[in-house]
Amino acid sequence: MTDPDPKSLERLRNRLVALTRDLVLMPSTEHDHAARRQCYEFVRNHVEGFPGITIQDHLDGGVASLVILPETEPRPDILLVAHLDVVAHADSRVYRTVLQDGRIIGPGAGDMKGALAILMVLFRRFHRAHPGVSLGLAVTTDEETGGEHGVGHLVRERGLRCNLAIVPDGGALNHITIEEKGILHLRVEANGQTAHAARPWLGDNPIPRLLAGLQRVETHFAALARTDHHWHPTCAVTRIGTENRTVNRLPAEAHACLDVRFTPPDTADTMLTTLRQLLGPDLTLRTLIAAEPTHLSPDPRFAEITTAITGQATQFVRESGGSDARFFHPHGIPVLLSRPTVGNLHAPDEWIDIDSMVSYYRICETYLAERFGVELPAEP
Ligand SMILES: [Zn+2]
Repeated sequence: MTDPDPKSLERLRNRLVALTRDLVLMPSTEHDHAARRQCYEFVRNHVEGFPGITIQDHLDGGVASLVILPETEPRPDILLVAHLDVVAHADSRVYRTVLQDGRIIGPGAGDMKGALAILMVLFRRFHRAHPGVSLGLAVTTDEETGGEHGVGHLVRERGLRCNLAIVPDGGALNHITIEEKGILHLRVEANGQTAHAARPWLGDNPIPRLLAGLQRVETHFAALARTDHHWHPTCAVTRIGTENRTVNRLPAEAHACLDVRFTPPDTADTMLTTLRQLLGPDLTLRTLIAAEPTHLSPDPRFAEITTAITGQATQFVRESGGSDARFFHPHGIPVLLSRPTVGNLHAPDEWIDIDSMVSYYRICETYLAERFGVELPAEP
């Protein structure tokens, strides 16, 4: 590992900051199709035109995904994976950045436009210096809404494969994720009989039955809680409602959404069985998203390089949150899931630390160069 000269580090730093700030300006949320498209084109334009690569534009369920692969290797050794969508904020004026305390502050800076900028620069540098190098890039637009039509579609339907995926959308600079919890997004429904609320005996109010079921679920999960890094199943009620628009009427239905996270040895099936028992035959359960717990099998060499470049010990950690990494797991593809230092994720003042961006870039560059057995010339 050679120490890069200060001038080229400064140029790298400036490039990463500029690129991230440009990306954050585009409010590429679930609701803003035009901005998502604009951001997609922005990324595409940055990586287009290199010899020895092919660009694929995929569309599934209205979700666009960009895949760039070496022409001769449809199954590259390494695939860089990012999402360009960000969470929506009510006030569209928040999609801007400020630089403060060595951070880029702005919505999506940490999750994950700063990391996307790093992957774009990595991809460009390796393909410019070594045309056809076995490095691909996949950029999707639906991670914040589940990833099913993005990475999910690419891996399941389009046969996207690689020997190893780098997904800087979890962990931390010196925390490489080794395991992620499984995810269930569920909708619970109770049906009843509408009636005038002055004569409730003529109807059947589904709300008390729904609440009683949710209470049994709450009690069950509360008993599973442990303090050791929260590596246990959890369940959060995230939405609740009825079709009712009036105060003096019993609703015909009531529903709630649950976000369940679970750890091995539980599986999506065992969790669903448990939940069905808790909710009882009166309540119906619909699965919106199901993903098994994921083991990421990270390459220990990446951890060694991380330690060498940051000067700090690197740990393998378990994560409560899920990421697109889970789609690679069923195909035996290991994933490297760590990232620059970020904070206030999904808030308007989300941030990414600039020094850690440079470190993460250098970790990846060193790892890739070593893996491909190539050297990168100094940037002009
Ligand atoms: Zn993310």
